[in-house]
Amino acid sequence: MSRSRSPIPIVAIVGRPNVGKSTLFNRIVGERTAIVEDRARTTRDRLYGDTEWNARRFVVVDTGGLEVSPDDPIEAAVQVQARLAIAEADVIILVVDAITGLTPADQEAADLLRVAKAPVFVAVNKADNASRELDAAEFWQLGWDRTFAIAASHGRGVADLLDEVVLALPPESPQELARKQREVEAEAFAAEVAAGRLEPFVVSDDESDDDAEVDDGAGPEVDEVEAARWDAMLAAASDDEPPAIAFVGRPNVGKSSLLNALLGEERTIVSEIPGTTRDAIDTRIAWGRTEVVLIDTAGIRKRGKVASGSTAERYSTLRSLKAISRADVAVLLIDGVDGLTAQDAHIAGYVVEEGKGLVVAVNKWDAVEDKKGSTFDQYVQWIRHEAPFLDFAPVVSISARTGQRVQRVLELAIDVWAERRKRVSTGELNRILTSASNRQQPPIVKGKRPKLFYATQASVAPPTFVFFAREAGSVHFSYQRYLENRLRDAFGFLGTPIRLVFRERAGIRAERRATKGAAKGAKATAKGAKAAAKGAKAAAKSRVRPTAASKRGR
Ligand code: GDP
Ligand code: GDP
Repeated sequence: MSRSRSPIPIVAIVGRPNVGKSTLFNRIVGERTAIVEDRARTTRDRLYGDTEWNARRFVVVDTGGLEVSPDDPIEAAVQVQARLAIAEADVIILVVDAITGLTPADQEAADLLRVAKAPVFVAVNKADNASRELDAAEFWQLGWDRTFAIAASHGRGVADLLDEVVLALPPESPQELARKQREVEAEAFAAEVAAGRLEPFVVSDDESDDDAEVDDGAGPEVDEVEAARWDAMLAAASDDEPPAIAFVGRPNVGKSSLLNALLGEERTIVSEIPGTTRDAIDTRIAWGRTEVVLIDTAGIRKRGKVASGSTAERYSTLRSLKAISRADVAVLLIDGVDGLTAQDAHIAGYVVEEGKGLVVAVNKWDAVEDKKGSTFDQYVQWIRHEAPFLDFAPVVSISARTGQRVQRVLELAIDVWAERRKRVSTGELNRILTSASNRQQPPIVKGKRPKLFYATQASVAPPTFVFFAREAGSVHFSYQRYLENRLRDAFGFLGTPIRLVFRERAGIRAERRATKGAAKGAKATAKGAKAAAKGAKAAAKSRVRPTAASKRGR
């Protein structure tokens, strides 16, 4: 497998204040942001939104959130946005206002954007009706063919704009295409299992249970032989790519210091690999018997050239985001003296959403005053309290300056990398599930108590578990959390997010009885086994990613 770790494409929205940038942003990102917040309990930066249109995934950035000092002229704000967009975006949308018409600040932004390599779209916003649409024609004089009249607050014209925007994105990477293919296969596989046409293993052979309508609270039972066969089929595809690790965090937390500490004279740099982002360089280093790839080491080093303050912070967030999308594991550096800031939590939120491994490194530990034996534990407790959605991530205190525990950071990242690729046996998984659901049943939601039948690990990186259940849609979030904790107690999964997917399997009993009658004893015919193997392979590689159907409804 060749790795051309393409980052997720970025669409930047640029424009002077009040033209409707954030309205357009919200329209494009839709309800997704809110959903993610509730479900994953991650914090979200309003300025970045992960979305999908016509089956293309991309990140939208509202560069209008870049704070410049309020005393600065509007032109300054626009300049900062334009520069960020030119440096990092794959497509740029310049938003202007049909009501006010062309202003000097618009002209200024347009002039700056003329040098952009990325395609530029002009979205003439507030074209609420036909007569305003005529007003919009004025903006053709800026000279871009791709000029669209839209009304972000009503959604008018936004779909047409997005159709063209996704066509202008860089071609999908082989990984992205493979990911989609796996999703299709995993969907098909899950549908087959849900319909009872594929029997991954025996849930329960107890006929008497088949008609029981009452929930006896008993969890699933697993046929060991069947489970073993299933697991053999699921043997993970071998992948000898070395772990790819990204150091991310706000400016001045010590990323380049850490990099320098790690790349010190004694470390052999195997090669520098041009990354796929403009000017990104990855560094491959020897590490024990293996190698690791450090993502975007050039970005870490050169970020200093960009303006300081909150603008630099936004810039480095964007850069971090790209690095995260290309990495297996992110090491989030935080400043031990400042503690965990909202910006740190935002970045961590992306790591979780992208399903990447996470190590939290508290840097500048040398500068933390009055340390006692319990200081670190208190620190960790405090981080867990501030950002409970990160409780799966190991925390390590380091000093890039003195070199204290810097090696440990990479060791942990490699451990996390392995945990993220861990596959647990179906038999074991269901034993854990049985005891967990015996100990505590899913709570009744709207008068219905879900019943879990069985679970299987559908994929690794991140570990993804599909639970087949009755009333699958009613498995309460707190119970999902409970199951996640039981899985972590049993299997670890240190530092990696895990995903739980619940699938309805209402027809399990009737379907199975029919199957049983036909195949009496023989659990899988030759053909069935082949189909199962194919499905298993698809599932093994799948990355089940819940996509919000609601996004289409705009
Ligand atoms: P930003 O500063 O560029 O992010 O602009 P906002 O998204 O905050 O919008 C500025 C103002 O324009 C708000 O009062 C919006 O309600 C309004 N606005 C946004 N889109 C439209 C639109 O399509 N039509 C009209 N009439 N007003 C809009
Ligand atoms: P980056 O912007 O995240 O790459 O941060 P740098 O590596 O450039 O570090 C920012 C500042 O923090 C510099 O002045 C460093 O000397 C300082 N710094 C970095 N690591 C440490 C550390 O472990 N302890 C202390 N006391 N200062 C550090």
